[in-house]
Amino acid sequence: MQRRDLLKTLAVLPLPAAAQYAARTRGLPPLTIRDVKVITTGAGSNYQWVFVKITTSEPGLYGLGSASNVNHAFSVATAIEKHYGPFWTGKPADRIEDLWQITNVRGYWRNSAIHNNALSALDVALWDIKGKRAGMPVYELLGGKTRDAVALYAHADGRDMQQVEENVRKYMEEGYRHIRAQMGGYGGGGMIPPGQGSRPASGFSGPAFDEELYMEVIPKLFEHLRVKVGTQVKLTHDVHEHLTPTGAVDFAKRMEPYRLFFLEDPLPPEQIAWFRQIRQVTTTPLAMGELFTSPLEWVPLISERLIDFVRNRLSQTGGITAARKTAALCEAFGVRTAFQEGGDNDPINQLASYHVDLSIPSFGIQEENHFPPLVHEMMPGTAQLKGGYLYGNDAPGLGIDINEAMAAKYPMKQPPGADNWTTVRGVDGSMVKP
Ligand code: MG
Repeated sequence: MQRRDLLKTLAVLPLPAAAQYAARTRGLPPLTIRDVKVITTGAGSNYQWVFVKITTSEPGLYGLGSASNVNHAFSVATAIEKHYGPFWTGKPADRIEDLWQITNVRGYWRNSAIHNNALSALDVALWDIKGKRAGMPVYELLGGKTRDAVALYAHADGRDMQQVEENVRKYMEEGYRHIRAQMGGYGGGGMIPPGQGSRPASGFSGPAFDEELYMEVIPKLFEHLRVKVGTQVKLTHDVHEHLTPTGAVDFAKRMEPYRLFFLEDPLPPEQIAWFRQIRQVTTTPLAMGELFTSPLEWVPLISERLIDFVRNRLSQTGGITAARKTAALCEAFGVRTAFQEGGDNDPINQLASYHVDLSIPSFGIQEENHFPPLVHEMMPGTAQLKGGYLYGNDAPGLGIDINEAMAAKYPMKQPPGADNWTTVRGVDGSMVKP
């Protein structure tokens, strides 16, 4: 090739990324956080969603993050308005890691739920901004896709074994390969009906949890399911911490014949040291994490290989930055992720998890969560569920926006029962972990 032709070829090649970035930002002042706006909404239902919209010094460039916490929504909103927002305003929007670190220690005490909600919202919004600035979806910034879509597990429930079986089949027909099976919600199968059982006079008369009953009934449900629907479908079950530690050890062993994909939250966070005992007696795979707020909880479980899946919720544990570090730790120790996405969760948190899920080799599964049409209209870009998979779009950033006028039409209200759903009791009226 002639030198002249070579120069011509070079002239039409795209600029290297650093030069492109420099060209795009030449003459502009460094990107700073201009304003932190808290957006709350009930989204036409009983949702308790708290979002942050971080606007920057670049006109039109903003990011969205989730600080949702169904049990403390108003506290979180106030914390961001009064404490975190003013702290972040004026700081460089490009320095995600640095801002994460200084925010984490800003209040001196760390690893609390409300603090982590604020930290997560900041983090996710800054990744959204960085993606938009780069013109790439966030998963590209995290290393690109390691899979084509994000597999989900669905929630099948029912009042009896036949109804649970029907619902499992329904999800299998939709394409789900992973299905959680419960029978009457959390603790279901172990509930003594209201007024029944041997109860103290004038005491608690509601549905009462009984450990023995639960440990007898639930293995029978899974025996039924394996006989009827076969071994191909991957089943999970959520204990939701109802058991005593020894009960959890026994129950995990009793469930072994039904080859679960995982047994979720067999223990409350206060008793995680008992995972060692469960590991010694059974190969039932274990999942834990939706109640975690601190690395002091999940790091030992992962590094000692005491669980198989970590179930952290991104908006409770520090957002994308924390999730990718946790995923890297999982990768080193052969643990997988199963990020939490319960029904109170929101589309921004769901997409934040999605971008991490798509890019990590330690991905295991993500929890299913679907939204009514109104939410898809209010938050364009909300991820789509199809055939047991979650699909985002390839728009730069997270790929989601919010119609603020529409969100304002549905003010966030305290839903009835929001403060007492976690209260479970036994026949004598004593509390059981929720
Ligand atoms: Mg759970």
